Amino acid sequence: MAECIFCKIAAGEIPADTVLERDGLLVFKDIQPKAPVHVLVIPTKHVETVDDLSDGDESLAGRMVLAARDAARQLGVEKDGYRLVMNCRSSAGQEVFHIHLHLLAGRPMGAMG
Ligand code: AMP
Ligand code: ZN
Repeated sequence: MAECIFCKIAAGEIPADTVLERDGLLVFKDIQPKAPVHVLVIPTKHVETVDDLSDGDESLAGRMVLAARDAARQLGVEKDGYRLVMNCRSSAGQEVFHIHLHLLAGRPMGAMG
């Protein structure tokens, strides 16, 4: 997608602070962190929202979670714990329409509400 900011990051056209890169996935630091540790896991292929994932994307979705697990270990937050979030469309506040898994850590997250 020509105008997608995360496609541009995946293609190396826009710089990002990369944490992990493997099998069609990229993990990089969020530019406006909402916690002391805040990284995003994205697939290099463009998928607009979680609702646009197909059944055939089962492996992709699973590998995103495992990449978050490994990024958390790499960043040393796996013992204290962390939150994983995926926002889908407007009610959830999705701003970038290329799926991404937020990994947030380094402060108490509180209850979901
Ligand atoms: P969401 O609201 O779930 O769509 O989250 C989008 C996230 O992308 C926000 O937390 C932004 O701070 C982050 N973001 C937007 N542009 C960039 C960028 N160029 N590099 C890193 N993170 C970004
Ligand atoms: Zn994209």
